[in-house]
Amino acid sequence: MNWLTHIIGLDNPSGYWYLFWSGLGSDITEFAVIGALLGVLRKYNCHIHGCWRIGRHPVADTTYIVCRKHHPDGAVKVSDLP
Ligand SMILES: [Zn+2]
Repeated sequence: MNWLTHIIGLDNPSGYWYLFWSGLGSDITEFAVIGALLGVLRKYNCHIHGCWRIGRHPVADTTYIVCRKHHPDGAVKVSDLP
Protein backbone atom coordinates (compact mmCIF):
# COMPACT_ATOMS: atom_id res chain seq x y z
CA MET A 1 0.00 0.00 0.00
CA ASN A 2 2.98 2.29 0.36
CA TRP A 3 3.02 3.22 -3.29
CA LEU A 4 -0.66 4.20 -3.12
CA THR A 5 -0.42 6.36 -0.01
CA HIS A 6 2.65 7.94 -1.50
CA ILE A 7 0.79 8.92 -4.65
CA ILE A 8 -2.15 10.30 -2.64
CA GLY A 9 0.28 12.09 -0.37
CA LEU A 10 -0.82 10.51 2.90
CA ASP A 11 2.78 9.61 3.76
CA ASN A 12 3.71 13.26 3.53
CA PRO A 13 2.64 14.74 6.88
CA SER A 14 3.17 18.33 5.85
CA GLY A 15 1.09 17.90 2.71
CA TYR A 16 -1.65 16.03 4.54
CA TRP A 17 -1.88 18.57 7.35
CA TYR A 18 -1.70 21.42 4.91
CA LEU A 19 -4.79 20.09 3.14
CA PHE A 20 -6.50 19.48 6.48
CA TRP A 21 -5.78 22.93 7.88
CA SER A 22 -6.43 24.80 4.67
CA GLY A 23 -9.90 23.28 4.47
CA LEU A 24 -10.59 23.84 8.15
CA GLY A 25 -9.04 27.28 8.04
CA SER A 26 -11.46 28.53 5.43
CA ASP A 27 -14.35 27.48 7.65
CA ILE A 28 -12.78 29.20 10.63
CA THR A 29 -12.45 32.37 8.57
CA GLU A 30 -16.15 32.28 7.77
CA PHE A 31 -17.02 31.74 11.43
CA ALA A 32 -14.65 34.53 12.38
CA VAL A 33 -16.41 36.96 10.05
CA ILE A 34 -19.81 36.01 11.43
CA GLY A 35 -18.49 36.07 14.97
CA ALA A 36 -16.97 39.48 14.44
CA LEU A 37 -20.26 40.84 13.19
CA LEU A 38 -22.09 39.38 16.18
CA GLY A 39 -19.39 40.72 18.45
CA VAL A 40 -19.81 44.20 17.05
CA LEU A 41 -23.56 43.97 17.52
CA ARG A 42 -23.18 42.65 21.06
CA LYS A 43 -20.71 45.35 21.89
CA TYR A 44 -22.89 48.17 20.71
CA ASN A 45 -26.41 46.93 21.29
CA CYS A 46 -28.44 47.65 24.39
CA HIS A 47 -27.34 45.68 27.45
CA ILE A 48 -30.89 44.60 28.25
CA HIS A 49 -31.31 40.94 27.23
CA GLY A 50 -33.28 40.60 24.02
CA CYS A 51 -33.03 44.27 23.14
CA TRP A 52 -31.16 44.89 19.90
CA ARG A 53 -31.39 48.65 19.80
CA ILE A 54 -28.02 50.41 19.65
CA GLY A 55 -27.03 51.23 23.21
CA ARG A 56 -25.52 54.67 23.55
CA HIS A 57 -26.41 55.59 27.10
CA PRO A 58 -24.12 54.38 29.91
CA VAL A 59 -25.91 53.73 33.19
CA ALA A 60 -24.30 55.53 36.11
CA ASP A 61 -22.12 53.39 38.43
CA THR A 62 -22.42 50.33 36.14
CA THR A 63 -20.79 49.03 32.97
CA TYR A 64 -24.18 48.79 31.27
CA ILE A 65 -24.69 50.61 28.01
CA VAL A 66 -28.37 50.71 27.20
CA CYS A 67 -30.67 52.24 24.65
CA ARG A 68 -32.72 55.31 25.41
CA LYS A 69 -35.81 53.25 26.14
CA HIS A 70 -34.05 51.20 28.81
CA HIS A 71 -32.05 53.97 30.40
CA PRO A 72 -33.06 54.56 34.01
CA ASP A 73 -33.43 58.23 33.29
CA GLY A 74 -35.88 57.29 30.57
CA ALA A 75 -39.10 55.35 30.84
CA VAL A 76 -37.65 52.40 32.80
CA LYS A 77 -36.68 52.50 36.48
CA VAL A 78 -33.23 51.43 37.73
CA SER A 79 -34.85 48.55 39.61
CA ASP A 80 -35.95 47.06 36.29
CA LEU A 81 -32.35 46.58 35.14
CA PRO A 82 -30.93 43.04 35.44
ZN1 LIG B 1 -32.83 48.53 25.23
